Amino acid sequence: MPTRKISDLPILRCGHPEHEPPRYQVFKPGVYEHTCPACGTEQRFIVDLPSWADMPIGTRAHSSIGGYWERVPSGWRAQSGCVFPTPGGDATHVSYPDTPELHIPLRARKER
Ligand SMILES: [Zn+2]
Repeated sequence: MPTRKISDLPILRCGHPEHEPPRYQVFKPGVYEHTCPACGTEQRFIVDLPSWADMPIGTRAHSSIGGYWERVPSGWRAQSGCVFPTPGGDATHVSYPDTPELHIPLRARKER
């Protein structure tokens, strides 16, 4: 056969630093759209809170009446020291161990 392919097309990559959604930014739960300012590629992503069991060790669930439960390997430890399968119903916010100052509202998760 007289005609043959001699190479693949060059892979065109957008090198803009904001091409991908920011990875180290904490978003509130919701559906987000990220548009690259250079090439216009749109990407959608969902931010949601994991289940109580999937939250990382050290996560705190803060109560509306003060205090918090802390995620431990066996469940959620109340400040009394007792460990429960989940935090109490008055938990309104969570904070992750790497960003303890950021209290994330639980409302979006409870509305499901
Ligand atoms: Zn781009």
